[in-house]
Amino acid sequence: MLPPIETRPSSEIKSFQEEKLRELLIYLQNKSLFYQDIFRKNNIDISEIRNLEDLVNIPVTAKNDLQERNDDFICVPRNKIIDYITTSGTLGDPVTFAMTDRDLDRLAYNEAISFDCADGSSDDLYQLMTTIDRRFMAGLAYFLGVRKLGAGIIRVGNGMPELQWDTIRRFRPNAFITVPSFILKLIEYAEEKGIDYRSSSIRKAVCIGEPLRNPDFSLTTLGRKIKEKWDIHLYSTYASTEMGTAFTECRHGSGGHHHPELIIVEFLDDNDMPVPDQEAGEVTVTTLGVEGMPLLRFKTGDVCYHYLEPCACGRTTMRLGPVLGRKQQMIKYKGTTLYPPALYDILDNVEGIMNYFVEVYTNSIGTDEILIHVGSKLPGEAFEKEIKDHFRAKLRVAPQIIFEPADHIEKTINPGSGRKAIKFIDKRNHTR
Ligand SMILES: [Zn+2]
Repeated sequence: MLPPIETRPSSEIKSFQEEKLRELLIYLQNKSLFYQDIFRKNNIDISEIRNLEDLVNIPVTAKNDLQERNDDFICVPRNKIIDYITTSGTLGDPVTFAMTDRDLDRLAYNEAISFDCADGSSDDLYQLMTTIDRRFMAGLAYFLGVRKLGAGIIRVGNGMPELQWDTIRRFRPNAFITVPSFILKLIEYAEEKGIDYRSSSIRKAVCIGEPLRNPDFSLTTLGRKIKEKWDIHLYSTYASTEMGTAFTECRHGSGGHHHPELIIVEFLDDNDMPVPDQEAGEVTVTTLGVEGMPLLRFKTGDVCYHYLEPCACGRTTMRLGPVLGRKQQMIKYKGTTLYPPALYDILDNVEGIMNYFVEVYTNSIGTDEILIHVGSKLPGEAFEKEIKDHFRAKLRVAPQIIFEPADHIEKTINPGSGRKAIKFIDKRNHTR
């Protein structure tokens, strides 16, 4: 299923994308109230946007725009919409994504070539361990993609370790589709119940939602913990509803492959200008071939490196590195740029830390300060030094550490609202 464009020289991929971009601009000019306004207010003549480099002349689209003018982004009449999807907005109300019949075909194509990239074939049987309803895109996309690939799929849904193991025993699937931390839960359950998980039919997992790799492509603590227990192949992916596109690793595990027929990707700095190739930038996307709700220069908030050398699998497309963190959570600390996930990966790995959260605040000279609240049975200077040494070894800087009772920290992390654990508290005067 490898699309021919994905092994072509980069100059050819670029002109291929530029042609798709011109089609998109005409479509937006005709159908999108939001982008008609953008073009008019900024005196943009779309016929002058011919190359990818010209994109910088168009303002970026922010998450707030989607929320404030949701209906103006939708380019089709109501009776053309098949599926309604929502994503959580930054201002409270969710953002609706309208999917047409063609968009569902595009989504199926995107997932089929992504599974193919992750060594998928019609011989595979996938166990889907993500939600397929509740207005989410991901589970539906996986189902459509597996079907298009000609492989099999069992829709178990998330959670329920007992039902997951029953499914493995009954149908002998060889692959998971899951958030990686759930694999640890399945291992734990299997160990409790005496299930010989290593001899099961499972050989690989396509993983979403949590980082499995560091920017140098080595495994994160989470990835390593899984592999130490159960040596199945892990494929990391990056995707979002707004993009309607997935970046999936091939077997070489060196970044998510870009599919040029589906999306244009830029990496932008604080001033919305492209970063140099070797620097990390905010992933900014322009969707191609989307009918219901196409986006032009949408800023995702995720910061990544990208890699341009051809991959050992033969693809010449750009590869997207792991998400370093959210743009707003960027910390400038002692001359280094840090993101919370890099701190978590160290803290998750230190023996003796029971729980923790990371606080950032603005110090008296107006720069960022990091204070890590740690719950431990070994509080004291020696352990503090040990934690700091781990930070120095990996990040070259060490934040301040404060020991607190673990139950006290637990109250901050899980205030009882049933939401995701809070590990990052931002008390800075101004956030980016
Ligand atoms: Zn590859």
